[in-house]
Amino acid sequence: MSIFKEIIEGRMPADKVYEDDDIIAIKDIAPKAPVHILIITKKDYSSLHDIPDEELGIIKDIAKVAKTLAEKFSIQEGYRLITNVGPDSGQEIKHLHFHLIGGKKLGSMA
Ligand code: 5GP
Repeated sequence: MSIFKEIIEGRMPADKVYEDDDIIAIKDIAPKAPVHILIITKKDYSSLHDIPDEELGIIKDIAKVAKTLAEKFSIQEGYRLITNVGPDSGQEIKHLHFHLIGGKKLGSMA
């Protein structure tokens, strides 16, 4: 079971900034920028690639949450929303999540 499942089920603490029936968002424990939030599906897809086509509507919901949080944390002038998929991307936690990163000038992508 992933650390995110433990957080979703309330067995591990986290700094929660959003929650609905399908999604939670928490502050990253090791932030790479002044704002670094993880938007996590409650359903444990291992990555974006694991979402069945008929369930891809969850991506729209994640985008809406990202927009809401970007406003809440005042980074609407510029932010990055990324998800790592699989070992070559460096994905550490095999439970679908998006990084919402901002609050400083972000460098170019790798
Ligand atoms: P990934 O490499 O899988 O895309 O990103 C995993 C992210 O989860 C990393 O940015 C890491 O700092 C964060 N993380 C790992 N363990 C925890 C934890 O226990 N709590 C929180 N809030 N973030 C975590």
